[in-house]
Amino acid sequence: MALKLYVDFDGTLTREDVGNQFFRTFGGDVCDSIVQEYHEGRISAVECFRRELRAAGRIPLKVLDEFLARQEMTPGVPGFFDYCRSTGIDVTVLSDGLDLYIHRLLERNGLHGARVYANRLTLSDLGDGTAVPALDFPHGCSECGVCACCKRNVLLTTSGEEDIVGYIGEGFSDRCAVEYADIVFAKDDLQRHCQEQNISYYCYSTFDDVVSRLQLILSRKRLRKRRRAEVKRREAFVCEA
Ligand SMILES: [Mg+2]
Repeated sequence: MALKLYVDFDGTLTREDVGNQFFRTFGGDVCDSIVQEYHEGRISAVECFRRELRAAGRIPLKVLDEFLARQEMTPGVPGFFDYCRSTGIDVTVLSDGLDLYIHRLLERNGLHGARVYANRLTLSDLGDGTAVPALDFPHGCSECGVCACCKRNVLLTTSGEEDIVGYIGEGFSDRCAVEYADIVFAKDDLQRHCQEQNISYYCYSTFDDVVSRLQLILSRKRLRKRRRAEVKRREAFVCEA
């Protein structure tokens, strides 16, 4: 049995929510009210992103570089990726944020070639120090507008029946996916959600905590699936068949 780990990006691999700060930086305070509408369920995640992108307009590339230079990873992240590589744990970064800053920040921290599923942000350089941003959503779900990148679907389609599925997250966009995970690492909003929904989890603060816990888990003779998660994974395929 192989352990497959799915890891949220904003607020999990990074200290802050880079996506929210990106739109606030380039789109201004109006983005807060757009996000508020999203959290109240009045607009879909895709609509939220489209409106924030319109508010952002052209992106000054120097300001983008400065913005990215200020973003910090959560302590222990490089060691976590090293540990997973050396122990054969498959890691996927799974984000309802934007791939452009995810790749840039991972690479800046020496994490080249990480597998990332996220919404796609492309920049068309106008040659005058600015770029026009465009978004698309290659991992959207036609049935549900809660997220723009459906973490549940990615998790279901990239894990096999024999895999033990682990998930590390902290926020709203992780709530759906943890229902399908055998081993959950949660903090902040996601920790409260797991408590309310009776989903067993390990709390963590840094990725050093995650590695320590994984060492304990892997020292057991046999990894165990979480019954409710296993049933939900099976049901999802039955419903869609
Ligand atoms: Mg997050």
